[in-house]
Amino acid sequence: MMSKPIVAIVGRPNVGKSTLFNRIGKKRVSIVEDMPGVTRDRIYMDAEWLGHEFTMIDTGGIELETNDTMLNAIRHQAKLAIDEADVILFIVDGKTGMTNSDEEVANILRNTRKPVLLAVNKVDTIKDNHDIYEFYNLGLGDPIPVSAANILNLGDLLDAVVEQLPKEGEAAEESDEIKVAVIGRPNVGKSSLVNALIGEERVIVSDVAGTTRDAIDTHFVTDGTKFVLIDTAGMRRKSKIEMPVERYSVIRSLRAVDRADVVLMVIDAVEGVTEQDKKIAGYAHEAGKASVIVVNKWDLLEKDSKTSLRFTENIRSELGFMQYSPVLFTSALTKQRVGRLTELIKFVAEQHNMRVSTSILNQIISDATAINPPPAAHGKRLKIYFTTQPDVKPPTFILFVNEPEAMHFSYLRFLENKLRESFGFEGTPLKLVVRGKK
Ligand code: GDP
Ligand code: GDP
Repeated sequence: MMSKPIVAIVGRPNVGKSTLFNRIGKKRVSIVEDMPGVTRDRIYMDAEWLGHEFTMIDTGGIELETNDTMLNAIRHQAKLAIDEADVILFIVDGKTGMTNSDEEVANILRNTRKPVLLAVNKVDTIKDNHDIYEFYNLGLGDPIPVSAANILNLGDLLDAVVEQLPKEGEAAEESDEIKVAVIGRPNVGKSSLVNALIGEERVIVSDVAGTTRDAIDTHFVTDGTKFVLIDTAGMRRKSKIEMPVERYSVIRSLRAVDRADVVLMVIDAVEGVTEQDKKIAGYAHEAGKASVIVVNKWDLLEKDSKTSLRFTENIRSELGFMQYSPVLFTSALTKQRVGRLTELIKFVAEQHNMRVSTSILNQIISDATAINPPPAAHGKRLKIYFTTQPDVKPPTFILFVNEPEAMHFSYLRFLENKLRESFGFEGTPLKLVVRGKK
């Protein structure tokens, strides 16, 4: 499966980017990135139009250092969009008209080969349509008039966006490889782990079809199992000069997660779990990916008999939603336990892909409800008639019940725990869906 294409929204403050964003998007992921000079709160949102899915980034939200200028910030946005997006959506303001910074951005955007769409926002009624003509001067093709506030013409805009999205991978490669994303903050040791993992293996590097960015996957085989490490560009070569700043690391990680079956969530043993780790891990969990938590640089800690226990407890409380993930303490430097990684990846991938028999499944659920009877709502007691597992990756269960509203979150949690006690499902999230059946 291909990862979702990226649409970056660029434009001055106040042109209506967030309004537009909120009209089009479905699910919001906000990630704070710190880099020297700027803090940005980048917002990612999944969107869909006529069956085409894509992820939007709001490249705005950049907080300036006092000595920086708006123009600099906007140049920065435009460059970011050019580097990361498949389609760039440049928004200008039809009410204020064309400004110098619009021209500045257009100058930058004209020099990319990526598709750029120009939307003139705040064209609130048909009679404001003449507001768009001056924007032809930006040399970015036909301006598309929209009103984010009044939801006018957004369909035409989305048609134009969808038309420019990269085509779905011709003959999507469905393979028997286990797809692995190695994620985590800069300097936790991702590259070192990748190099240690593939050190002795025969490695093939491939470009990813259909993406305009430089995603490079690394394929290798260990003990007869095929693995592919997703987007290892900048990991396999050591020169940090080629990737001067890790400013794209977050979006790279999210895209790699989208394409993966298994996520290796790498944490620095010295620094522990950070906010950013939590967000990326949360994204992987929500996306239904299997995961292994890798605590790297284990060689750097003074250890006693309780160190790993205490560390595990800390991870369990910081990454509470990932109770199911195995934790491995590694050192990419000394190679301690690196050899265990492929085994564990293979193990959680199998759990992620596990199907259980319907009869045993229903037996487990009925035993569980006998021990701990379901809750009641509006005077009606919940009854679970039948449970089935229609899907894997992640294992997904549908519970047919009399009254879906009577299902409590805590009861679902109880049932999930029972499924885990019976079947394991280590390293994988489970999806439990409740359906009414009359
Ligand atoms: P951003 O800074 O580019 O994200 O802009 P916002 O989405 O925060 O919008 C800036 C202002 O423009 C807000 O007061 C919005 O209500 C207003 N605005 C956004 N879209 C429209 C529109 O289509 N028409 C009009 N008249 N105002 C709009
Ligand atoms: P990345 O940015 O996550 O890819 O991290 P790198 O693999 O580039 O590692 C960052 C630094 O940590 C480098 O100086 C590595 O040599 C060092 N490093 C990586 N793994 C380990 C480890 O297990 N132990 C120690 N002591 N240092 C490590």
